[in-house]
Amino acid sequence: MRRILVIEDEESVARFLVSSLEENHYSVRTEISGAKGVQAAIEYRPDLVILDLGLPDIDGQTVLLKLREWMKVPIIILTARESDADKVLALDQGADDYLTKPFSVAELLARIRVGLRHFESVDQSTIYRNGRLECDFKGHTVMVAGTLVRLTSTEYDILRVLVKNAGKVVTHRALLKEIWGPNSVEHTQYLRVYVGQLRKKLRAEDFTAGLIVTEPGIGYRLMQED
Ligand code: CA
Repeated sequence: MRRILVIEDEESVARFLVSSLEENHYSVRTEISGAKGVQAAIEYRPDLVILDLGLPDIDGQTVLLKLREWMKVPIIILTARESDADKVLALDQGADDYLTKPFSVAELLARIRVGLRHFESVDQSTIYRNGRLECDFKGHTVMVAGTLVRLTSTEYDILRVLVKNAGKVVTHRALLKEIWGPNSVEHTQYLRVYVGQLRKKLRAEDFTAGLIVTEPGIGYRLMQED
């Protein structure tokens, strides 16, 4: 059974998480403070951590940094709706994904599945298939419904980063850094242009429009069929 550590001080949210996760055959341990959460991560050795950013003792961002000093397993953060800056900071500091309160069981389970799957398949195969999209990272080709799509090298790089993180959100900063280097992390206008072109090319081949989803104020997410 996969072990999930929940660090959350809000009792109703913690209860909801425990019942939803146990019902879906995960083993769960909850802690209500950052300090206890860090300690529990060492003892319990979870396969995944769900971390609330608003904790009573240590700030959730600090807990995240402490966990990331040694821990590689996926960390999903929980945040309030109005805190986009917190989400971006946490994602850039090593969180894998986020859930905005209130969230549904379906969202929760989907995020966990994506997180665990990524972690367990670090060596990705060279061919990626998602519905009608097929990327061959060895041959540098992208096909949609069997038709070759001609992408510029930048468009291709953006798609490659999104595919590498399929199902997970990728922040503007992370994308910019990966593609244009650390000095370009503020230039989100580049991304809007290139992602727009990429979407248009994929759509031109009659592909579903919702493949690359904009997460407003945060980044982009490549939707993946389960
Ligand atoms: Ca809280």
